[in-house]
Amino acid sequence: MKNKNDLRNLLESIDHRGYPNYKSTKGDYHFDGYILHIDHVQGDPFAAPSHLTIEVPGERAGFPEEYRSVKHRRIALQDKLLRYFHAEASRVSHLAKGSGKSGAIEVCKPGQEILERSDCRVDEETGTVYLRFRAGFPANGRTINSRELIRMLFDYVPKCVVGALISRKETERDVKAAIELSDDQAAIRNKMQEMGLIAFVADGAVLPRVSGVSQLPMKGAVLFRSPETLKAEIETPHRGTISGMGIKRGITLIVGGGYHGKSTLLKALERGVYNHITGDGREFVLTEADAVKIRAEDGRSVHGTDISLFINNLPDGRDTSSFTTEDASGSTSQAANVAEAIEAGTHALLIDEDTCATNFMIRDELMQRVIHGEDEPITPFLSRIGQIREAGISTILVAGSFGAYFNVSDTVIQMDRYKVLDITEKAKKEAEDYPVMEKTELSYHAPDNKRVPAKPGRELLGDRIKTKTLGLDGFSVNHETVSLRYVEQIVDSGQNAALCKALLMAAERMIDGRKTLTEIVDELEKRMEKGGADALYAGRTPEAGLAVPRRQEIFACLNRFRLLKIN
Ligand code: ADP
Ligand code: MG
Repeated sequence: MKNKNDLRNLLESIDHRGYPNYKSTKGDYHFDGYILHIDHVQGDPFAAPSHLTIEVPGERAGFPEEYRSVKHRRIALQDKLLRYFHAEASRVSHLAKGSGKSGAIEVCKPGQEILERSDCRVDEETGTVYLRFRAGFPANGRTINSRELIRMLFDYVPKCVVGALISRKETERDVKAAIELSDDQAAIRNKMQEMGLIAFVADGAVLPRVSGVSQLPMKGAVLFRSPETLKAEIETPHRGTISGMGIKRGITLIVGGGYHGKSTLLKALERGVYNHITGDGREFVLTEADAVKIRAEDGRSVHGTDISLFINNLPDGRDTSSFTTEDASGSTSQAANVAEAIEAGTHALLIDEDTCATNFMIRDELMQRVIHGEDEPITPFLSRIGQIREAGISTILVAGSFGAYFNVSDTVIQMDRYKVLDITEKAKKEAEDYPVMEKTELSYHAPDNKRVPAKPGRELLGDRIKTKTLGLDGFSVNHETVSLRYVEQIVDSGQNAALCKALLMAAERMIDGRKTLTEIVDELEKRMEKGGADALYAGRTPEAGLAVPRRQEIFACLNRFRLLKIN
């Protein structure tokens, strides 16, 4: 293998030449204590920066073996190292100057959630650290300035490596704390299963965020406190007993006046499918990992979804056991979202009245009297929620104005000035005097999950496909936008980038006109289980900043792809 002097000589020899000459640097170079891989070189200083990987051997990185022995620990370690590298890189990025992207040193910036990401990977066996970053190779205009690149690769990057990827006295405790936090989160998730809880919110948790556009904790917030009756105590390996509110399997209503903190609690639960970093305030707000937020999503496309649990006898006679539309209404979109969440294997639905189609949730008594059952295509969620519970799927529902749900719920909690009260008994008692409004003689059947996508056309195959990630809003494939804005548990644009890859890989290798959607998602999931989001390359150049999405979001993405046809 070449070493850093070879790289220096090469760079000096191409100084002042045309920018494409940088391409000759592609290759692997021994530096002091690590290997620098130049994976892909940009053709132009104004194009996306070049892709590089740093490989630090396990002995040199020096993190204890037990920090990678279990998956949750390895992910916590990777996350921590990536955060360090991001901080180091921000200090030196753009110190080298020039045109366009010259001097940029970038990695993805992790948010409050701890996700498995392709930018940092620690090998389970050897402990080798792989850190993928992007660098803008410097130029004046379009002329190579290799002096500046030499500063970047021989001064700045080595500083980042030492500061971030190698075990040091200064960060030892911080890394250990991250590992221990991941242990405690994993332990609570395990205990939750045993205790029959679908969610746990620790006493002292900070639920509200700074603003609608920031996930940082609100300062001076009212700290969470569980009511005595719902208190659960869970033993953790590093923190002793943690107490908080346990939400049991079944149906839980969250009620209370407007502005009292209902949606804030539900939002925290939505994100509780992921682990959060120290200092976030939601470290111990944990929700069943397969829980799915359900909302109305007017305008989404639906392909062959069985929504007959909720919608039947449409005026145009359309088949709702295999429902297809390019433009779903509020109620049909919400029905499809429930059916597809069940298909994706969820055990908990999270619903907020703020983002529901009212006619999907409920039909009041007067309306039932005026419009008879047979004239109304919608069987409201209220009529099905009990059956869905019997099928093993719990619901947590924010319902400040749906009193009819009292009858069917197992637990009713009230948010009162950001404090939680257990009002189950009171609510049940009040509800006794009111008849159950919705009765259904319809039998329950799990939505049919034998959907088979048709083999895609040429537009999805080959190397010339142009893709673009649209932040949290989704991505596009050859100008076809896959809108994931309302798939609210996508919390990082890296997940969208990975979903785009997953979709292309499915189109190229898996969708064959015979496999069911479930089989396809199983296959994608299995690949990522082993190789993370990197397992989705399908021969293309590695992409920056991928984050592993959940199974539920892979389904959501395939379900919203308008070019996907169901046989
Ligand atoms: P609801 O859904 O009941 O109408 P929200 O959850 O939207 O209420 O909360 C209303 C406002 O109160 C939000 O601006 C939120 O940030 C704030 N808030 C929520 N919980 C707390 C808390 N524990 N401490 C301080 N402010 C909070
Ligand atoms: Mg609300």
